[in-house]
Amino acid sequence: MHTTSDVRVRFAPSPTGWLHVGGARTAYFNWLFARRHGGAFVLRIEDTDAARSTGESERGVLDDLRWLGLQWDEGPDAGGPYGPYRQSERLDLYRARADELIARGLAFRCFCTDESLEERRQAALAAGRPPHYDGRCRTLGPDESARRAAAGEPCSIRFKVADRSWALRDHVRGEVTFPAGMVGDFVILRSSGLPTYNFACVVDDAGMRISHVLRAEEHLANTPRQLMLYDAFGATPPEYAHVALILNRDRTKMSKRSGEAAVAVGDWRRAGFVPEAMLSYLALLGFHPGDDREILSREELLEAFTLDRLGRSGSVFDAAKLQWVNAHYLHHASGEQLAAWLATGPGPVPKGETDWSARVTALTAALDETGRRKLIEAVRGNVATLADIAGEVSVLTGAEVVTEPDAAEALATNGAGALLNALAGALDGLAEWSGEGFKSALQATGKAQGRKGRDLFMPVRAALTGRTHGPELPLLADLLGKTRCIERLQDAARRAG
Ligand code: GLU
Repeated sequence: MHTTSDVRVRFAPSPTGWLHVGGARTAYFNWLFARRHGGAFVLRIEDTDAARSTGESERGVLDDLRWLGLQWDEGPDAGGPYGPYRQSERLDLYRARADELIARGLAFRCFCTDESLEERRQAALAAGRPPHYDGRCRTLGPDESARRAAAGEPCSIRFKVADRSWALRDHVRGEVTFPAGMVGDFVILRSSGLPTYNFACVVDDAGMRISHVLRAEEHLANTPRQLMLYDAFGATPPEYAHVALILNRDRTKMSKRSGEAAVAVGDWRRAGFVPEAMLSYLALLGFHPGDDREILSREELLEAFTLDRLGRSGSVFDAAKLQWVNAHYLHHASGEQLAAWLATGPGPVPKGETDWSARVTALTAALDETGRRKLIEAVRGNVATLADIAGEVSVLTGAEVVTEPDAAEALATNGAGALLNALAGALDGLAEWSGEGFKSALQATGKAQGRKGRDLFMPVRAALTGRTHGPELPLLADLLGKTRCIERLQDAARRAG
């Protein structure tokens, strides 16, 4: 990827679960920002929580990002000039940077045990003091500290926090001040050798030349620690934009536990939502395009995306609205586009759940590619998700017609049987099969039977599909083919009034 500016942004997921809709939105904002400015979009895997990080989760997150079409320019698989891009492969670097801070007197080794730290924390709380680190190892002489470490005594490394306030000009939050005394000397490298989030984040954001950090608001509280570290390294911090959270209806943070709507991107994919709809919907949770558009394509968002249009307050996730956006995309898609979405499929499907993509393939096995696309396009108006397509297609290609109650009513009207038989006869006499031919036969039969409008169309539609709504009748006839049409009409006539 050829970049034309110094803009470099990153998406930095922790591979401890599935990609969350909030994460997808953050990734999209970063992607949009990079593309709009001709910059680079970096993917960094923050897998230093060894107990919770898994390769499976990392693969899942990457898969979901690819499915969304948010391709990164540098990352664990793509490589790039500032790699490796997986934090677990950068441990030597964190160690070196921590040692450098010790040598410069800006950090110190801490030999306190967890038990002792906890005891002192409780005592501080009981005495009404802030529960910060009390500085016990801060004053150890460098020789003693080095000797104890060399002798193998376990130690973490803490950053010496200066007694001063910090200010941040955030693109979303505006001017934010963090008064002195909010944080105590914090751990940057654990005794296990693993870095803490704040330390790894700064070493990497600085090392990877990140110019802008667009991330969730929940990280705002981490920013003063990160500013302190930039200052210690003599580096200029990136610009920040802390994006407001996605909320449940009760305005609590949308999370796996609340269970109101699916939070995993993969769940939406499995339910038959398309990436275009997910991205448009998620972007507008937090981004204001400056007018009343409710659906924005990637191109339109690239045109409109500026940081000052990111909202400050959280947005409630509305599953019904997302479904509406998805239906919009499906209703306006070509047969070719629908076929492509179907081919991409739902991703891994848990046992016992149906794979709608495989089902549509099976239901259309007798058709060639053109016939298949035509069929899928014909039903698109009736579906809100890709998963719905299987049901609609089975109405047309299934061996049996399942008659819905309102369709049964239409068939029960007086004279419906005679109409259907007459139409079957007229169709049988057609030399060539086409939607147009069907239409003329239908009109002629209607005239002969003294029926028009609903009285004519409804019983025919009910006979052909078992339903009272669906694609235009001539198109239906064309899709069903002559034999199936005649069979369905005759079969319904036997049951009709
Ligand atoms: N790994 C962090 C997360 O998943 C990234 C935070 C950041 O963007 O700095 O929340």
